[in-house]
Formats: sequence, structure tokens, C-alpha cells
Amino acid sequence: MTDIIQVLPDNIANQIAAGEVISRPASAVKELLENAVDAGATHIQLIVADAGKSLIQVIDNGKGMSATDARLCFERHATSKINKIDDLFHIKTMGFRGEALASIAAVAQVVLKTKRASDELGTYIEIENSVVKLQEPVAMEQGTSIAMKNLFFSVPARRNFLKSNASEMRHIIDEFIRVAMAFPAIFFSLTHNGQQVFHLESGSLKQRIAQLLGNQYNAKLVAVNERTDYMNIAGFVGKPETAKKTRGDQYFFVNNRFIKSAYLNHAVLTAFDSLLPKDSFPTYVLFIEVDPAVVDVNVHPTKQEIKFEDEKLIYAFVQAAVKHALAQFSIAPSLDFSLSADIQQLDAVAKPFTARDQQITSGGRLYQSFTQAHQAHKIEGAAKSELKSWPSFFTPPTTDVLTTNSTASTNFEFETPQQLPFEVVPNTTYLQVRNTYVVVPVKDGLAIVHQQLAHERVLYEKYSTAIHEKALATQRSLFPETLHVNAQDANLLTELLPELHKIGYMIEPFGHQAFVIQGIPADVQSGNERHAIELLLEQFKHFSSDVKFSKREKLIRCMARQQAIKADQTLSHQEMEQLIQQLLHCKVPNVTPTGAPTFTVFNEAYLDRLFGR
Ligand code: ADP
Ligand code: MG
Repeated sequence: MTDIIQVLPDNIANQIAAGEVISRPASAVKELLENAVDAGATHIQLIVADAGKSLIQVIDNGKGMSATDARLCFERHATSKINKIDDLFHIKTMGFRGEALASIAAVAQVVLKTKRASDELGTYIEIENSVVKLQEPVAMEQGTSIAMKNLFFSVPARRNFLKSNASEMRHIIDEFIRVAMAFPAIFFSLTHNGQQVFHLESGSLKQRIAQLLGNQYNAKLVAVNERTDYMNIAGFVGKPETAKKTRGDQYFFVNNRFIKSAYLNHAVLTAFDSLLPKDSFPTYVLFIEVDPAVVDVNVHPTKQEIKFEDEKLIYAFVQAAVKHALAQFSIAPSLDFSLSADIQQLDAVAKPFTARDQQITSGGRLYQSFTQAHQAHKIEGAAKSELKSWPSFFTPPTTDVLTTNSTASTNFEFETPQQLPFEVVPNTTYLQVRNTYVVVPVKDGLAIVHQQLAHERVLYEKYSTAIHEKALATQRSLFPETLHVNAQDANLLTELLPELHKIGYMIEPFGHQAFVIQGIPADVQSGNERHAIELLLEQFKHFSSDVKFSKREKLIRCMARQQAIKADQTLSHQEMEQLIQQLLHCKVPNVTPTGAPTFTVFNEAYLDRLFGR
């Protein structure tokens, strides 16, 4: 018998490993942008075609590479950023694993051009399937251009796995925003299919936030800026009025690296406390600076999750810093925050903490509040009590808005009830209780209907039919409203226009990131259409991407939820009657699309039992 184990050839091993780092165009974008940042570039251009499926190119004016390095950089574990294990604990660069370019070369055709300032000529390299096809000198300016073409051309299974262009583009824009947000001093641009989506001149963090998230934030940001000997925090939180109904623009950076952390998010949320309207989410862009030795960024292949040595301390610090900023804001609302935390301070945050800094901060109010007993933010007590409550925070209604009970809904969608769930007594009177429940005398007893949930079911079926079968009628607006959105939303809205039209919203693109609402559904009162669309975009974006719903399904669900009559709303008798009739005509009247019950029936037997009959 022969032995059967063999070592995989490099190109196959690379392709397998590439899956971890490069899973979609956006992950390549992230790696290439980070490399340009690491190379010290001050000017970075991102060019994509077909949402990155046919081309992703990053051109920077960074330090460039020698001819040998230009070849070496495509080897796995080839990096200039660490050379001993100890370096892992002092990482100041975005990259360090030396895997990105090797992965990219394994799954795309790559053209690299690079030149250092000191070299006469640069290097041109073509590479395919991890094999160098061509290398020659080239005349060029200092810097690097890496173009990757036909992503996953050698891995068709992967290629087929990619989502629609609009959806892949949304991921690219997300990654672009995260990098551009962290480095406001660097010029960035993004061009898609020849059209410029972003053109970000270097400036302050505040300006960058407005460039990326929209000018509406301009006067609505509160500066956060605290320093201790353990860590610094700088950035902005949106004033409470900018809070969104769904998880909105929330950015955490640790040592300039974007991270996702439900835990730290909660710290910010609790800092807002009662300042926020119920069920809404604050906007924030916060930069935490800590000694790289106390964080482990190497717990996730794309480094989006990190581990802190002392998570509770960071939690308490973030919470205290945001509280402090908000307190200042409410004491002196007219204070001009534009002066406080712009790029100079960001810069300062990025500087290593000196002994002098330490002395200054350890005398400061915030520092003492962390270290002295009976102070508001004394770490132990504060962190512990928050800790207990934080997981429960993420249970409904939040999760209810964002995710859905898909098992319940899919099961129910296919069952058509044989008979009506209840039969309303003819010419009866409806009774509304607590402006939320409709009590209906039915043949066999009594039904209690939740008006909001019932209406959500009604609208869900109505919009489903409209989109899948027959479009709803549109009424043309006499005074069409114009809607201005950021680039990300413009991309999404464009994607949704055909479906929106079917449910009665006639919206047309109107130049750069603007749209005109030409018409709305015939049975919707005009006046809040702009708000409705804004809300839709917001909800849609945050419909968590791992829920397996199609674009249409998400749209239908968002719209149904949004347009439903709310609890706490007085209904006329006619409105109640209409609602009940519509509910009874639904295919699945008994639950909402997310599986919540819409009504309960108390039948005769049950009522009799109550009275011992
Ligand atoms: P890492 O960033 O983890 O080191 P990469 O595979 O992304 O690994 O890059 C490998 C090496 O190639 C980097 O360490 C760097 O020396 C070099 N490199 C990559 N991109 C650039 C660039 N745009 N400019 C200069 N050098 C680069
Ligand atoms: Mg890298």
C-alpha cells in the first residue's frame, strides 16, 4: 500500500488560505487601502469596476518597494512589519500578517507598479495564480499601484457566491468609509465604473465625518476627548437628536483600526442614558488609543474583533468619557465644539503617551474618578453593574427590529388557513382598549387584536402582492419632494427603486446623491414621504446581513413595519372595522411576518370555565 498524504502545491494552499482573508471584493479593498496607509501615503485613490468583480485598484503615493520586495510581497507570510514574535505586541501598522497580497495573488490577476523615492526606475509585475508572469522596470512617480482584475476567476465557485453588484458595492463603501474615517489627514477618493463616489480632501475628523456621513452632522456633533495614563479617547458623538431608529452610524476605532464591539457600543449607549429617545441609537465616531501591548488584534483573520487585556476598564472609560462630553454639552449647549476635537487632537491622541502627559492626566478629574472610591466612575462598581445588564439590552425590541424569527415566519407563510380564525358578529361594535387593542365580539366568544401587529401583517401581504404580482397605484405628488442622501444610501436607494415603484413610490434619481419623490402610494397621505424613505434606508441597511432574506423581502418587511398603525393611536370605529376585515382576508392572519401573534380568541368554553360553568 502506498502512502496517501501529500503536501499541497503552493498555489492551492494559497487559494485555500485566501478564503479567510479575501472573501469578497470588499475584503480586498480593505487590505489594499490599509497597505497604502501603512506605506505612509498621503494620497490614496480607489478605483473599482463592477463592484470590484472585474477591477479593484489602489494607487498611493507611499514609500514604494524595491524590485526584490515587489516580488517578495506576494509570498505568504511576507511582511516588512514584524520580524520577531515580540513585535506582535507593539503593532502600529494596520497589517502585519503578511497574508493579504499572497491571498490576492491566489484569487485574481494582479498588476503591481511600485517605486521608491530613491530609485531611478520602478518595478512592474504581472502575476496570475500566484505565479509571476512578467517583471520589468517601469518609469513612474514614487508610490504603488496595485490592480487586481477578475477576482476569483480561478475559483468559479467563489465567484458565483458573490452577491449583486449593488450589494458588493455597499460592502466596498463600508470598508472605504472605515479606513477613510480613521485617517482624515489622508486624501481619499473612490471611483466606481468611471464615476466618482467620494472625493475626500484631507482635513479634520469633523470635516471627514461630514464628508462621509453627510452634512447634516455638521452642527450636531459633541466632541469627546479624555486622556488617562492607560488610554486616550477622542472623537465625536452625535447630539441626541441625531439618534437613529436603527443602529446607525457607529464607529469604534482602536489604535485607528475599525472594530465591532457590542460591548463598547453598550458603554456609549448607557452613557446617553435618558437623553436618547426610546429605542433609538446614537451616532458616534470614537477613537480609542491604548498601548498595543494591552490589545490582541490577532484574534480574527480580518482583525475586526480584538481582545482587550482589561475590557471592563475600557468599558468604564468609554462610558465616562461620553458622559462627560454630554454633560458639558447640556450645561453649555452653545459651546462651539468645532474647535475642540479636530485633527490636531486626533494627532495628539496618536502620539505615544509621555511621562509628562501621565503627570497631567493623573491629576485630572477624570483620572481620579476612575481611581478613587466613591467617585462616579470608579471602575469596579460601575463596570460590574453595567456588566450584569448589558446582554439583556440586546434582546427585543431591538433584535425584533433588526432580525426576525425566520423559522416562525417561513413555516407560517406556506400554510393557508382552511377557515377564518374567527367570525365577527354581524353589525357589532368594536372597542379599543388602551389605544392599542381592539376587542371584537366574535361568534364563539371574544377576540383581542393588537392593532399594530395586525396591521403589520396586513401591509406585509399587501406589499408582497404588489411586488410579486400586481403593482400598487401611485398618486403623483403636486409638489415633489427632493431627498438628499449620502453616497452609501444613494447606492442602496438606486438599487431599491424598481421595488419601491411597485409598492407605489415613484422616485427618480436627480443628479449627485439626490432623488425626487414624484409619487407615493395612492392610499398614503402625503407629507411624510421623505421621512418614510429615509427611515426605510436606515432600517434596510441594518437589517442584519446574515439573515437570509432577499432584498425584496427585506424591503417588504421594513415597509410593513414602518407604515403600520402604531400602538397608542386612537382608531375610529370605521378604522377598527377596516383593520379587522383586512386581517381576516390575510393568508396568514394569526402572526406578523416575524412570528408575533396578532390576536387571541377567548372562546365560549374558556369564558365558561373562568366562571366555573
Ligand atoms: P502585511 O500588510 O500584513 O505586511 P501584505 O500582504 O498586505 O502584508 O503586504 C506585504 C508587504 O508588502 C508589506 O509588509 C509591505 O512591506 C509591502 N507592501 C504592500 N503594499 C504596499 C504599498 N502599497 N506600498 C508599499 N509597500 C507595500
Ligand atoms: Mg497588509
